[in-house]
Amino acid sequence: MLTYDEALAQILGGIAPLPPVVLPLAEALGCVLAEDVMAPFPLPPFANSSMDGFAVRAADLAQMPVTLPVQGDIPAGALSVPALDAGKVLRIMTGAPIPQGADAVVPVEETEAAGGGVRFRETVTAGQCVRPAGEDVVAGSVVLSAGELVRAAHVGMAASVGRASLWVRPRPRVAVLSTGDELVEPGATLQPGQIYNSNAYALAAAVAEAGGVVTHRIHARDTAPALRAALDAGAGADVLVSSGGVSVGDYDFVKDVFAERGTLDFWRAAIRPGKPVAFGRWGETLFFGLPGNPVSSLVTFELFARPALRRLAGRADAARTPVQATLTEDAAHAPGRQSYQRAVVTPDTVTGGYFVRPLSRQGSGMLSALVEANALLVLAPDAARFPAGASVPVFLLD
Ligand code: AMP
Ligand code: MG
Repeated sequence: MLTYDEALAQILGGIAPLPPVVLPLAEALGCVLAEDVMAPFPLPPFANSSMDGFAVRAADLAQMPVTLPVQGDIPAGALSVPALDAGKVLRIMTGAPIPQGADAVVPVEETEAAGGGVRFRETVTAGQCVRPAGEDVVAGSVVLSAGELVRAAHVGMAASVGRASLWVRPRPRVAVLSTGDELVEPGATLQPGQIYNSNAYALAAAVAEAGGVVTHRIHARDTAPALRAALDAGAGADVLVSSGGVSVGDYDFVKDVFAERGTLDFWRAAIRPGKPVAFGRWGETLFFGLPGNPVSSLVTFELFARPALRRLAGRADAARTPVQATLTEDAAHAPGRQSYQRAVVTPDTVTGGYFVRPLSRQGSGMLSALVEANALLVLAPDAARFPAGASVPVFLLD
């Protein structure tokens, strides 16, 4: 059986980022840039006022106090700006172009109206309250670089240089397939023996958190024909994620039906939860056959599918890097497979490191522990007990 690291390496080794697409700027948030964005002009494009006040010639205010007449107004967005006459001032608004002849702005709160003019009391330095052209960005410089994750500031910068769209890696398109005759959609009434289909919703949410977009939600009953139809409905997605039916029970057809279509790279891994976890390829579509138990399906999504989605999306940090944490109490598991226990991590304010406490409810159907957890605690397969005080690897969840 593959270890987690071997299985993940096998998955990521065969995945390249999706080919770039052009997206409208408003849709690019969270995507990885696939181009360098250049500023065709300086930012700001013209020298402008950083305050509401008066554009002046500093030399006219050498003697204090002084009262000067107001020549006119320059609002932000003014199409034509008069040159400033000697011995006068122009009322100017924040962001408005500095008129020819002016070399400073005096904030309105440092002035007072006085007999048809404006009275100045404070000394003025040339350049004060003036934002020169190009003080933020020089014309021709690269303002955003390929490989960067588009955050709100990137969107703002792209817009500032006039870009209405960007070349980015697309969000991977994901088909989420749930299986099971016992499942009912939330909102409907449960009959005896039925449970709500939580995985379809949990996995779709996990896809969104991982930067993917759910294009299909498909539910299949536990028959081979139903599964065939469901898999075919998801064909063409970048990723197909199924839950349930992947174990060795009599109704677990997922592996076999998938193998009629694509190649299974592996169908189990030496981990707990989630030993029955399948990965395969079907043309360009990646397939993750995740276990049905709600914790197992989300944990295996986290361990395998999330890094794959992020790699497709062009993220450099596809897989999480574990950090070391100190156990606050004993941890135990059945050795032989590597465990990913639900745990709560708190900062160790003295050392700057972490403490980790395993939760008591470690059953693979116990979603309550995953709700409470903020980390997965990794217990190596070669020991059964890990004493309080030991340093162990943990994956911090978002
Ligand atoms: P399976 O692998 O299909 O045998 O499922 C294992 C366990 O997970 C069973 O108890 C199922 O009822 C449960 N299960 C499977 N799929 C889902 C789902 N979509 N939502 C909630 N529980 C599920
Ligand atoms: Mg099932």
